[in-house]
Amino acid sequence: MEGAGMPGSVVVLLGPPGVGKGTQGVRLARSRGWAHVSTGDLLRDARETGSELGCQAQAYMDRGELVPDDVIVGLVKERLNSLPQSQGVVFDGFPRTIVQAEALDGALADDGRRVSRVLLLEAGEELLVKRIAGRRSSPNGRVYNVYFDPPEREGLCDETGEPLLHRADDQPETVRSRLAVYRKATAPLADFYQRRGVLARVDGEGEIGAIHEAVQTIVQKKQVRP
Ligand code: AMP
Repeated sequence: MEGAGMPGSVVVLLGPPGVGKGTQGVRLARSRGWAHVSTGDLLRDARETGSELGCQAQAYMDRGELVPDDVIVGLVKERLNSLPQSQGVVFDGFPRTIVQAEALDGALADDGRRVSRVLLLEAGEELLVKRIAGRRSSPNGRVYNVYFDPPEREGLCDETGEPLLHRADDQPETVRSRLAVYRKATAPLADFYQRRGVLARVDGEGEIGAIHEAVQTIVQKKQVRP
């Protein structure tokens, strides 16, 4: 939480699927007492509860396509309205299109706020494909990677022995199309935020702790160096 009455910071984590926005978003939010708002997580929650919105979103998600802007903007506004204005927020996986970025500006402007910092996490495409397509998760929430962090027994959780799950949108073909969607629809947001002087680039290939330090340093600076 930030000072009472002061509008909270709004930080956006931008970058391709698999670059570590989720991992860094959770860490950043925890370390600063901010809310972590991941539209991917909000959609997966909606899907699990069997809500109409979740069912609508499922087909897009399974194909690795973007869920329509109006659905996403509605979800985000609902989430923002549930938080006090003084609450800092880190967005992960949102905005993903210029339309979403403009809608975010509009929603924040209503409260006299604006996006304070955008961190563009970057990594090479081969690494991204291995990170996502290799991802397996246990029903208990533990996440493995068959290339970088495999379980002791193939396909089974070390902790519970249960079979590991492979998200439908983490299959290699879907990963390639998610990366193509990123290049076309989302990558232009880097220029959009660069022009406003709020964009900073972060190397997403390193070790998780080192990336977190780099993220913290940027977030603490008053100005982003040109
Ligand atoms: P993620 O967990 O962020 O990789 O999101 C998983 C999937 O949810 C994406 O491939 C999209 O289908 C959908 N999704 C998440 N965030 C958005 C967004 N901001 N705009 C459109 N679709 C989204």
